[in-house]
Amino acid sequence: MESQLVDPFQRAIRYLRVSVTDRCDFRCVYCMSEKMTFLPKKELLTLEELDRLCSAFVRLGVEKLRITGGEPLVRRDIMTFFRSMSRHIESGALREITITTNGSQLERFADDLYAAGVRRINVSLDTLDGEKFARVTRWGRLPQVMRGLDAAQKAGLKVKLNAVALKDFNDDELLTLTHFCAERGMDLTWIEVMPMGDIGNEDRLGQYWSLNDVRSQLARHYTLTDLPDDTGGPARYVRLEETGQRIGFITPLSHNFCESCNRVRVTCTGEIYTCLGQEGHSDLRAPLRSSEADATLEDAIRAAIALKPKGHDFDYSRQTVDGRVSRHMSHTGG
Ligand code: SAM
Ligand code: SF4
Repeated sequence: MESQLVDPFQRAIRYLRVSVTDRCDFRCVYCMSEKMTFLPKKELLTLEELDRLCSAFVRLGVEKLRITGGEPLVRRDIMTFFRSMSRHIESGALREITITTNGSQLERFADDLYAAGVRRINVSLDTLDGEKFARVTRWGRLPQVMRGLDAAQKAGLKVKLNAVALKDFNDDELLTLTHFCAERGMDLTWIEVMPMGDIGNEDRLGQYWSLNDVRSQLARHYTLTDLPDDTGGPARYVRLEETGQRIGFITPLSHNFCESCNRVRVTCTGEIYTCLGQEGHSDLRAPLRSSEADATLEDAIRAAIALKPKGHDFDYSRQTVDGRVSRHMSHTGG
């Protein structure tokens, strides 16, 4: 289907990421402060509203939907939403529905996700050391996530691991994480830490481990072949010739990927952010609630896309955190 959503820079919007909750059962140090205040329930879009919203985007040409959060699998009754969205997979309108999760609830939900048409998932895991895992997630426990990974693979879901690259934290686990993923047939993507949200006392620059360094360390042990970008997203991929696995690098800080950006994000309260790195956003909840017909909503979506900025302004190059945005990653969904 031709996309009806083309932004002022001629980028067709095909990819929607939706945060279904701002809550989480972890408190990762780079993502949340220990004492987070969450939104009152009435602020959140209901599951029916989320369905209407996502379906409107699908009608307008979105082909890929990623469900995120907060932790999407802690939203009450979220499987009702997944089951309902599966009609768009069955009709062929949606090519893929996928999820980014911390893995804590996968043991419970992996089979249901597969049954709802989900085939690939991203699981965030920064370390294979139980003590370090508890430290970085504050509330998480590694064995629970490991059981979740087992359940996901057993259910037939293809798993990609996402690890945030953190200096003096997991820089000694580059090879262990690579081996772990190779053994389990999983791709691995490294993410540079981004300056988002007030997270307490953590030192953002102290956390920053450049992916240029990750890449050159990998190149000492493996033969890296660059792969063409087929995602339109911020990840660049290489193949490790020795294992065949794909390793991704999400480098919003050291490389600019905005020119091929085909995505927008919607928060759990129905705000649309057309750029992860900018404060500008529009409200879709009021148009959603103002009328049971979807014409007003579709107009609001088109109007928001017409304001999509050219790119973000994150920059660490002057040794200060420029371009910082005040909201947490869990608000917009990573
Ligand atoms: N709770 C789910 C999870 O952890 O996968 C989904 C939401 S989480 C906000 C999405 C991704 O954002 C995770 O991979 C997480 O590691 C990443 N993330 C959170 N805060 C970040 C930050 N400040 N910089 C870079 N990545 C971040
Ligand atoms: Fe929760 Fe994901 Fe943020 Fe960790 S990164 S606190 S798991 S939302």
